[in-house]
Amino acid sequence: MELDSLYQEVILDHYKKPHHKGLPVGELQVHHVNPNCGDEITLSLAIKDGKVEDLIWDGVGCSISQASASIMSDLVSGKSVESARVALQEFTELMQSKGTISGDEEILEDAIALAGVSKFPARVKCALLSWMAFKDAAIQNGAEL
Ligand code: ZN
Repeated sequence: MELDSLYQEVILDHYKKPHHKGLPVGELQVHHVNPNCGDEITLSLAIKDGKVEDLIWDGVGCSISQASASIMSDLVSGKSVESARVALQEFTELMQSKGTISGDEEILEDAIALAGVSKFPARVKCALLSWMAFKDAAIQNGAEL
């Protein structure tokens, strides 16, 4: 139970003070929507020397979707495309696990705080929205994810 409240605190911190949030300025912008909940994410980034750079996003929606965008952007910004790919895969598996796995904290860092979301199918799309936007944007920038 203690762990649960710690996780909630991480999510609330990211929701209240989102990281890498601002007006997406890149030429290639993606806009993803989760109509079930009304969440929206716009995101742009650049791939430079095999690394994810200049990731910036803006969005509206529930605390899960917005916190997840902040957490995701921390996790992949400045990292190699390969480590972003690994994190994306790990997080997607975790979200699709229906609570059966707890995730690898070394890979997921703060994203581990979203593990509990996997037990609520209706909220999984909220948590995955920004990650799918990231994947889309990275692919459009020529990354292989
Ligand atoms: Zn939502």
